[in-house]
Amino acid sequence: MDLAHLVRAGGKVMRYRQSLIRTALVAATIATTAAVAAMAGYSKPAPPAPAPAVPKASAEAALPPPNPERNAYFGDLHLHSSYSADAFALGTRLDPDTAHKWAKGEEVEYLGQKIRRKAALDFLALTDHAEYLGVIPEAADPKGVLAGSSWTAALNNPDPAARFALFRKLVAMADANERIEEFEKPELLLSLWKRYSAVADAHNAPGKFTAFVAYEWTSAPGNQNLHRCVIFKGKGPQLPFSSLDSLDPEALWTYLEKQRELGLDVIAIPHNGNISNGLMFDGEKTNAGAPITRAYAERRMRNEPLFEIVQEKGSSDTHPSLSPRDEFADFETYTMLLGQGPPAKIAKGSYLRQAYGVGQQISERIGVNPFKYGIEAGTDNHAGMSSTEEFNFQGPNGRITDRAAAIQAVSDGTPVFNSPGGLTGVWAEQNTRDALFSALQRKETYGTSGVRMKLRFFGGWDFDAALLKQQDWVKQAYQRGVPMGGDLPARGQAKAPTFVVHAVKDPDSGNLDRIQIVKVSTKAGKSTERVVDVVWSGERKPDPKTGKLPAVGSTVDLAKASYTNTIGATELMGTWTDKDFDPAAQVTYYARALEIPTPRWSTRWAVEVKLPPNPKVPTTLQERAWSSPIWYAPERK
Ligand SMILES: [Zn+2]
Ligand SMILES: [Zn+2]
Repeated sequence: MDLAHLVRAGGKVMRYRQSLIRTALVAATIATTAAVAAMAGYSKPAPPAPAPAVPKASAEAALPPPNPERNAYFGDLHLHSSYSADAFALGTRLDPDTAHKWAKGEEVEYLGQKIRRKAALDFLALTDHAEYLGVIPEAADPKGVLAGSSWTAALNNPDPAARFALFRKLVAMADANERIEEFEKPELLLSLWKRYSAVADAHNAPGKFTAFVAYEWTSAPGNQNLHRCVIFKGKGPQLPFSSLDSLDPEALWTYLEKQRELGLDVIAIPHNGNISNGLMFDGEKTNAGAPITRAYAERRMRNEPLFEIVQEKGSSDTHPSLSPRDEFADFETYTMLLGQGPPAKIAKGSYLRQAYGVGQQISERIGVNPFKYGIEAGTDNHAGMSSTEEFNFQGPNGRITDRAAAIQAVSDGTPVFNSPGGLTGVWAEQNTRDALFSALQRKETYGTSGVRMKLRFFGGWDFDAALLKQQDWVKQAYQRGVPMGGDLPARGQAKAPTFVVHAVKDPDSGNLDRIQIVKVSTKAGKSTERVVDVVWSGERKPDPKTGKLPAVGSTVDLAKASYTNTIGATELMGTWTDKDFDPAAQVTYYARALEIPTPRWSTRWAVEVKLPPNPKVPTTLQERAWSSPIWYAPERK
């Protein structure tokens, strides 16, 4: 029986603990052997040296005081390093320690150059795949503990085509839930997990930078994505639960519930509904084929409060076919199934906006909405770098040494369809694990397409335009209403809710075009969606017949891959009252803020290598942010 089986054995915690103590002793020996191997010449990923001990009291005293009106913090809750099998197979050698350094804005050596993020992140959850986490670098090491296995030669093959074939083989094995016998070494898996989670603990610096212990549970039956990133509030678990243990999200929830019984706090965040072929938000049945019950819906929302709206493999907000009247729906549209597989066939059940309506329909029947997700975003970058800056993108997967080839390719494995991915904005009192994790749980978060735009969204029954003239409007908005992620308070005699939106541009990106509110309304089993322009830059007037706001225009020079901030606004603020409000309908409201057009990363790379941009992808994009929703539900009699 392996350790994972022991974890799963309900009520066998004691036996698991004793077993861990025994294996930890063995692991210590293995770690020493590995250290000797490292000295023999192989550059092995290792955790950073522990920081000098700071007395607890003085560490807390050094924290900036908490801001009750909360600050926006930006980070990535989804990133892979060389410890992920697929990333290593694609050539990634940046290890967990380096991935944290990059996120913190420190200089990193990459392809012979010293590079860094222009703007450091405030937090990171490195989410390497749990399945044989860290084993592949060991297997590639000719002097490592797995030297001599059939994998050592294959992993050291210098031919990129051979490496891509190996990547596909690994993805296929993972999708088929196939175990690799040579890697089934419980002591090794345990010591690698300890080494990996210690890196996040070492980089976590309360008040300055938050590093979460995290990993990814990688279930994708038939290349259809059901992945979840698993994020711990404080210390990590003794071992992760992987898709080799079960492909069913409900089994993952059982593991999360067990971790909470053991005193740890943890959430899971699903991603890429867009390539799930309708499995992610199946409104008919659970993954196991059972009907959706109230207990299932409550459990799903308790374990996974947030959904990742954008990442390198595209946006899961909506699909143009589902939202034909949303002129901005076609954004980083990506439909190839995992492992650059065939295109996804089914849009229904794959996108968040539609799921909000379906969830409300289910709620009408069973009393709970199973898709009441808050919004965040990540990169899912597999190169070890959360490089969301469009002007500083280092490539999505593995090591890209030939930028010309990368942007010209349109066949399997081409990165040109990938996005640099997104960032999560978190409204929290201070930059600590506790404060940020609480914000994730209460969904006071938003997703961006990689920019550090500040976005506020409040809803209430007695807001008006005069509120925004008050110096302390944020304080009042918290007192009189709810922020993103909340439920509107009891309606009383009020006729309609009013919403406040406020956005401030990213200093390193484009000005703002507009802020919109997306409204998804459900009554008597029918859902409708509407997108409203709330506030916009310039003197534009909506067309009196169609209500359509003219486009903001473009300053992009494609020949230079440049733009100027001579159009748009640096800050936008406004209120909107829902005049069509029906107190008998359930409603999900979320804000979407758009930037003016700027050159897409692939256009920048094309100019750099003096080639035309790839015609298969857009040359420009309107970077954006999506707030977590504010919900309304009629009182149940
Ligand atoms: Zn994934
Ligand atoms: Zn991932």
